[in-house]
Amino acid sequence: MANLEVDYSEVLGKKAECPDGCGLCCLCQPEVLAEERHFFEREHSRSLVRSKGPEPYLALALKKGKGSCVFLNGRRCAVYENRPTYCRQFPYHIYVGDKVKVELDLSCRGVWTEKGVDAKAEAEEIVRKAEGRIRRAVREAGEVYSEFYRNCREAGVLGDPAEIRRMVSENADRFTDPAFIGKVMEMTLIEPSMTLDGIKEGPADMDELNDAAMETAMESMAAEDPVNAPVYCDEEWNWNIFLADGMSGRIDWMVLDDEGDLAKKGSARTSDIKIREPDPDGKEILKRYISILNQRESFLGNVFSLMDATGYEDDMSNAYYGCLSTTVLDILWRASMLDHFMGTGMGERGIREAIIFYDMDRLDAPAIGAFV
Ligand code: SF4
Ligand code: SF4
Repeated sequence: MANLEVDYSEVLGKKAECPDGCGLCCLCQPEVLAEERHFFEREHSRSLVRSKGPEPYLALALKKGKGSCVFLNGRRCAVYENRPTYCRQFPYHIYVGDKVKVELDLSCRGVWTEKGVDAKAEAEEIVRKAEGRIRRAVREAGEVYSEFYRNCREAGVLGDPAEIRRMVSENADRFTDPAFIGKVMEMTLIEPSMTLDGIKEGPADMDELNDAAMETAMESMAAEDPVNAPVYCDEEWNWNIFLADGMSGRIDWMVLDDEGDLAKKGSARTSDIKIREPDPDGKEILKRYISILNQRESFLGNVFSLMDATGYEDDMSNAYYGCLSTTVLDILWRASMLDHFMGTGMGERGIREAIIFYDMDRLDAPAIGAFV
């Protein structure tokens, strides 16, 4: 694409397939672009609705208003040739921030099988088709980022993202240790502009860490309506929903079926789920995921958005390390919760499943920049 640099590093050397029986991305209610509406208006006049959520858009209807897309039959798309652009783009996400980057959605089990098409070639084709939308988003993002950096300079909190990322990359394995995360979170509150070099190994206050993890996880799994709750597609292709209720301090486990009905599978007091340290092979896969997050423009955009929301009180490095710590804590808590309900453990399998559960949620995180 002339004059438009796109970072494909996340998809380089990867493969992607869409195994039968999944249908997870058909729960996401993809937007229908203006040029795609005609087919649905003409052939399926009742299939277009306003999506739920804070920024509604025109989308395909869901079964019973809370299940999968109405066109998903037997976990297969009934309008495959005419499916919207966003269905075609999945599991690739084009993020336009300070630069354009293609990210791979690790909630899609088809990217873990190491089978299928070459991900970079497929991503390039998707980018080619989305060129107009990308160029528009680049123009808009340019202005937003200039304003953001200006605000940072004025508040004296500007950092160097490349340097911050380098520090994380050198310390990626330490971020897999709950004690280290606890210390980082402590330091972000004390130090005006922190580095990771000065953080010593040692025990952390696990009670405090558990509370922080529980709070983060409860927040991300608290939804009044199950349609807005994150979904975890497990190894047997069940669509699991975990709904946290802050008032009762409980978390309910439900499974959504193909007709849009929910069946309760279990319930637990959130205080009974304790964050646990991953096993060595769990740490290894978590470290790889941290390295991916650390290179994602959307993650940086998320940190910047938090800095903006808190009035530029925090130094950029503090905000970045704090946000990464909270993210890892959320994943570890989810792994502990999946283990509690399903016995997935804290090894490679348990942490992988927690990442699969977590990775799609970032699409809803506020960010400076945008997915196109
Ligand atoms: S989430 Fe991935 S594997 Fe599942 S239906 Fe979508 S593309 Fe296919
Ligand atoms: S149109 Fe097809 S691919 Fe898109 S969400 Fe509906 S069933 Fe899934």
